[in-house]
Amino acid sequence: MTQSKCPVCGCKQFHVKNPDDEYDVYEIECRDGEVRFEAGLEDDECPPVGDDTETFCNACAWHDKLNKIK
Ligand SMILES: [Zn+2]
Repeated sequence: MTQSKCPVCGCKQFHVKNPDDEYDVYEIECRDGEVRFEAGLEDDECPPVGDDTETFCNACAWHDKLNKIK
C-alpha cells in the first residue's frame, strides 16, 4: 500500500474544500490513488473529488491539484 504524502513536508493528511462553500472542508487521505474521506462522512455528503480538485496539505501551505500527489 502506498499512501500519498505532501511533496513539501511529507504529511499524509490533506483536505479539500466544498465547491459550494469554501469554509467547509473535508479531510482526506489518498491511498493507492484512491481518495478516502474522513471517517463518519456519508457518501452523499462527500463533495466530488477528481484529479483536478484543489487539494490542501493539513500541515503546511502546500496545495495543488489532487493528481500531483496520486
Ligand atoms: Zn505539507
